[in-house]
Parts: sequence; C-alpha cells; structure tokens
Amino acid sequence: MLPTQLAIVAFGSNLGDRTATINKAIALIEARIGNVTKRSPLYESKALNPPTIKEQPDFINGALCCETTKSPLQVLDHLLEIETELGRVRTPGGRWGPRTIDLDLVAVGNEIINTERLTLPHPEMQNRDFVLIPVRDIAPEFMHPLLKKSVRELLDTLESNSSGYILNRIN
Ligand code: ATP
Ligand code: MG
Ligand code: MG
Repeated sequence: MLPTQLAIVAFGSNLGDRTATINKAIALIEARIGNVTKRSPLYESKALNPPTIKEQPDFINGALCCETTKSPLQVLDHLLEIETELGRVRTPGGRWGPRTIDLDLVAVGNEIINTERLTLPHPEMQNRDFVLIPVRDIAPEFMHPLLKKSVRELLDTLESNSSGYILNRIN
C-alpha cells in the first residue's frame, strides 16, 4: 500500500444510457480504486471527431476526485477494466470514436509519467474544456506539475483561445 494520493478521473459517455453508465462507473471506481470524495456536475458536449468519423452522438462528461493508495498504473488498469465491463469495445483506429464509457486519468497527485501505457498528467487536459470545466468544479487549485498553472488558470487560457465543446450543464 502506498501513501494516499489524489487521483482525478475525467469520464465521458456517448452510447447507451449515458448517465446510468457513468453512475455505474463511479460506483466501481469507489469500490476498486478508492474513496470518491468529489464529483462534478455533468455536462453535455460535442464529440471531438477524428478525420475517420463524420458524426457521432453528443457526450456527457464530468470528473471526480478519488483518494487512492494504488499506483498510477494500477489505477489505469482498474479504469480500463471498468470500461470493458461497462461495454466499451475497443476497435483498431477507434480512438475518439463513440463509446459507452471513457475513463481517463487526468492526474495522480504531482506525478509526471511518460510511458507507452500511461502519460500523466493527461497530455490533452489543457486543450479540452470538457475536462477542465468539470475538473475546475472539483479541484480548481490543482497545479499542473509540468505547466505550473492551476486548473483555473489553464481554463482561463483555453477560454480566451477557443469556443469549446461543452453545450450545456445538465445537472
Ligand atoms: P484520449 O486519451 O485522447 O482522450 P481516448 O480516451 O479515446 O483518447 P483510449 O482509447 O481511451 O483513448 O485510450 C488509449 C490508451 O491511452 C489506453 O490504452 C492507455 O494505455 C493510454 N493512456 C495513456 N495515458 C493515459 C491516461 N492518462 N489516461 C487514460 N489512458 C491513458
Ligand atoms: Mg479520452
Ligand atoms: Mg481514454
């Protein structure tokens, strides 16, 4: 068992009963990874479409904080396993395609990791309003250990540069 660290998980769903699947994922995270101390409101957002996919349903996105004594790789493995159990099918070249659930590890404490399986903090977090807005709801003062900016500051920078993906808050 390692010292307790704060893990931030961003979640998204755009297939099936999106809210029900998100609630199941949160319950499984609580059971397997650690105490979920905060969860953000849910937001509906436009999909980030890769060149191979013309259109796909809107996502529901959000984020949570979890206290864990597991290593970042153990946390990732749990998240990938929960995705599979909740019906996520991974197809080759299917990155950014429609999915019942996507569970991305935004950060684990101040850890900086650059391996093939895991990059921490998540390399795209600073470019995505559908990650930064819910993360600001639950951890506005979290400092990005590489960019040396808080989530609040990262979002201010992003919002001055782009219109964003989020359509509306749904709860
Ligand atoms: P993106 O990561 O750009 O949001 P995605 O969520 O669609 O894309 P996935 O298909 O869910 O991508 O994940 C592909 C792989 O990314 C996973 O198998 C995992 O090993 C790797 N990965 C690397 N860093 C992370 C991270 N911080 N959180 C989740 N997965 C990660
Ligand atoms: Mg993702
Ligand atoms: Mg993912």
